Amino acid sequence: MNVAYVNGVYAPRSRAAVSIEDRAVQFADSVYEVWGLRDGRFADEEGHFARLARSLAELRMAAPMSEAALRQVLREVVRRNRVRDGLVYLQISRGAARRDHAFPNPPVAPTIIVTASRMDRRALDARAEKGVAVVTVADIRWSRCDIKTTGLLANALARQQARENGAFEAWLVRDGFVTEASASNAWIVDSRGVLRTAPESDNILRGVTRAAILRLARERQMAVEERAFTLEEALAAREAFITSASAGALAVTRIDGRAIGDAVPGPITRTLRAAYLHAAYAGGAAARAHG
Ligand code: PLP
Repeated sequence: MNVAYVNGVYAPRSRAAVSIEDRAVQFADSVYEVWGLRDGRFADEEGHFARLARSLAELRMAAPMSEAALRQVLREVVRRNRVRDGLVYLQISRGAARRDHAFPNPPVAPTIIVTASRMDRRALDARAEKGVAVVTVADIRWSRCDIKTTGLLANALARQQARENGAFEAWLVRDGFVTEASASNAWIVDSRGVLRTAPESDNILRGVTRAAILRLARERQMAVEERAFTLEEALAAREAFITSASAGALAVTRIDGRAIGDAVPGPITRTLRAAYLHAAYAGGAAARAHG
């Protein structure tokens, strides 16, 4: 049986529930994090905790418990669900209070949700071998996309548009530039061979996987620029890919139906995907979820 953690209780996931007055329900007044798991190891554990702390601080939300205690809860949910390959999801909301837009005063106890989900590793690896298609949609999100909140309606609409067009992901375009994707960061290897992704700003989520890929590329002396690219540059690129905790680095072979390069995963994407999987899951920094 799949088990979720909600406010100190481990309950069947299908019945786990929060109050209708929860500020996550009413206002998306909540932040979240997602960790990738392979062989029971957490990827980029510290990076996700650092971003969580930043998201909470930006919204002036108190941490619901110590980071050490939170780590224990995450591991317990993974253990109870016997997940070895998959994702761990954490959500923290400002808590349940009578509906009023302003923060509850005095503050109420935050709501904590933790779930763990299995993913089929062979299917993920097979998808990466083939690459995926993306479509482009207008980036209609708010101006604080750097905070990892559950206010994901625009992202959900974009992903649905991708789904309806036979694509895996949607790339978001603002003022002619690709900001990121609905649930991942966007990258190209441009026509000169330079690896590019949009710079950190309020317009993108500071992907933990993005940061790891930047570091790995620089370690390998690849030409890297944190500089936004246009849709035209993307269509003329040698390679394209996305990064996220769930996808790692995943080749994009078509944008709006047009082939990128030879429409197969390119050498830089392949190198970085392999390097990331090695560094995130096999490296000494990874922490064991079991035992
Ligand atoms: N951008 C958006 C909008 C996301 O939702 C995500 C992940 O869910 C990412 C980027 C990738 O971030 P990370 O690599 O930390 O998973």
